[in-house]
Amino acid sequence: MAKRKTREKEAYKQYLERTGFGEAPITTALIDMDGVLYDSMKNHTKAWIRLSEELGWNYSPEEFYLYEGMTGAAIIRLMMKREMGRDDVGDEEAKEIYAKKAEYFRELGTVDKIEGADMMLTTLRSAGIKRVLVTGSGQHSLLDRLNADYPGIFSDDLKVTALDVKCGKPDPEPYLMGLEKSGAKAENAIVIENAPLGVKAGNASGCFTVGITTGPIPEDVLIENGADIVYPTMMAFANALTDIIAARNYSF
Ligand code: CA
Repeated sequence: MAKRKTREKEAYKQYLERTGFGEAPITTALIDMDGVLYDSMKNHTKAWIRLSEELGWNYSPEEFYLYEGMTGAAIIRLMMKREMGRDDVGDEEAKEIYAKKAEYFRELGTVDKIEGADMMLTTLRSAGIKRVLVTGSGQHSLLDRLNADYPGIFSDDLKVTALDVKCGKPDPEPYLMGLEKSGAKAENAIVIENAPLGVKAGNASGCFTVGITTGPIPEDVLIENGADIVYPTMMAFANALTDIIAARNYSF
């Protein structure tokens, strides 16, 4: 316990140094969806692979884990630039191709919730911390389930999805939009992420950024991309969360 607290204290100290902020309590949590609330990345990857094979392109599953967090349209533009040298893919065309990928994902069936996500969310709610969804996803088959799977956690005015943003992660835009929607300052918010480009966006937004390695991407890669602290599982983070919140409330 002492060691854990020391690690967290050190991470927060380094965060204050990096941002120049003073100590402040946590009032808002900006929460990613895929790989944080749902164990959905395997199916997203399968859907992307099916789409790319259909187009005659050769992609490995690992690549899609590295693109995680970007909007579907941004991934499609990246692929078409690489495979066809095209940089003129308009919104309509990207939307049409993304609709196929979304359909393939839906056909793969229901995905499980991430173990520990319920505990993490109820701890936040009990502490009076606002929960804001910040996802690059436009996958209706998941977004439409969210309120049923996590009842009473997310209100509709505190959601940022692919439909809201221009740039998407790794740009800080979606997290800055989440701050704006909740009325919080960066120093009062934490970002909860699992992907390299997601933690990059969180870091750039000025929020304390928690990385959780729920997929194959190793801890070092999340740290290199700007995570302030990394946990091996959502359960490990959920177990530490009450102490993290209390430390920020009582240390000043
Ligand atoms: Ca994610």
